[in-house]
Formats: sequence, structure tokens, C-alpha cells
Amino acid sequence: MTQASAHRVSRAPQTGGSTTYRNSPSTGAGAAYDGADGGATRHSHCPVCLGELTRVPAEEAGAHQFRHASAADEARCPLTTMSYQPEDMTVQHMRDLLLEGRQRGAFIHSAMRHYRVMKKLAPSLTVRRLMFLVGYADVQNLWSYPGLRQHDLPYVLLVLAGFIRHRGTQGETVWLRFCFDASVRDVGDLWRDTGSQPKLFQMVYRPPVDTPFPTSRELIHFTTVARDVRFLGGEEPWVRGADVKEFQQFLSRGPAHEEAPSDAGTP
Ligand SMILES: [Zn+2]
Repeated sequence: MTQASAHRVSRAPQTGGSTTYRNSPSTGAGAAYDGADGGATRHSHCPVCLGELTRVPAEEAGAHQFRHASAADEARCPLTTMSYQPEDMTVQHMRDLLLEGRQRGAFIHSAMRHYRVMKKLAPSLTVRRLMFLVGYADVQNLWSYPGLRQHDLPYVLLVLAGFIRHRGTQGETVWLRFCFDASVRDVGDLWRDTGSQPKLFQMVYRPPVDTPFPTSRELIHFTTVARDVRFLGGEEPWVRGADVKEFQQFLSRGPAHEEAPSDAGTP
């Protein structure tokens, strides 16, 4: 393991239940972590892949203080991976017609509420992209998970969306990607009663240079997302008439089961 593959994360003060981690400006690539509880403990864990972190020996440290103890974690963790196709959360369940009808119906009934929550986190998300994601969920039988919780769905769909291009506050192009921590390998893990709430992260990247999608080299910062579990009880949000119409036309076609839309996960 070289120093170049080590990474360091600094943690900004907590605001509103979320935590932002910024790249050390001197590292350029990769973001890291200052210890699971903010302390520079010798053995803490990466917040994203949950892998063990180890302190970089003082003589090699430079800008980097911690790295994954395991090379496998280093290779697959979104904070350090050199792959632009990191392991995705899986969605695969036996189709259950009854549950599908009930749970998909409940989602569709409040789709614009879900959309508003997604749009707050990813403002460039269009209704058309939402429709692709619903089509993908249809094919993967997301609606057939018995433990499915409706208030998790905006976040689950954002994770399934993969990279989302977005214009930053200064007019610059950034790429967003959402991921749960590694305790969620399959979406069903989210609905296992384990007593702990998996964290959701928003990753923000610079545009990729040598790859079709960003890798950890382009990671600017990542933030834990505070999840709203009460949005379904709120008022019906205002949505552009054209968007509502497009969504209704999509609904009139019914659930897709034949083929997955190929661009569900691309910007
Ligand atoms: Zn990690």
C-alpha cells in the first residue's frame, strides 16, 4: 500500500443532523476520515465501507493520516476506488403480485412528494429520470420486498440513479452520487431490524477526466444525508403541470416487467 492510496478526511461541524467531510486540499483525490467518532484513534472504521482504518506511519503520513487496513476495502470503497463502476446496491426479489400492487400503488399515490424529496437533494433530477427509475424498480421487483418502507423510497431511488450531473452554486458542473454505507448490500438490508440505521451519503465529484464517470480521484466532498421520514404527511407539493402530465402518461402504461430501461443509472 502506498502513501498515494491512503486518504484523509476532515470533518466539518455538524449541522442539521448531517455531516460534511471535505477533501484535504493537499491530497486532491480521495476523501478520508478523521476517526469514526472524530478522534484520531488507531483503529477506527471508514464511515462508508465500514472497513477498518489504520494510521499511516508518521514517516509516510504527509497529508494522509489514515487508510483502509485492507486492500480489498481500498479497492471497493467509494472514497478510494479507482473504478468508475463501484459495487452497486442490489435490488432482487421474487415478484409478489399482491405486495407489488399495494406498495407500488402507495408510492405512485404520493409520487410527487417523493419527487420533491429527491429534487431537494439532486435539483437536476427530472420527472423523466424518475420514470426511468420507477421502470427499473418495476423490473427488479423493488415493490415486492415485504419490509419496504415508503419513506425510504426517495433515497433508495436516488441510490439506484447512479451518477447525476448537476450545476453547482458557482455554475460549475459537478456529479452527484448517493450511496448507503456498506451495511446495505441489497436494498432489503435497509429493512432488516438490526437496531442501527444505515447511513446515506451524498458524494460530490468534479467532472471525470479520463473515465466516463467519476472515480474517487474526482471526489470533492461527501455528506451524510439526514433522511426525512415525515414528508408523506405534508402538503401536496407544487409540481409543473407538464411534469405531472408526463408522469400520468407514464402511469397509464402500467408496470414494466419485460426489460429494464438501459439508462436508469446514467445521467
Ligand atoms: Zn471505506
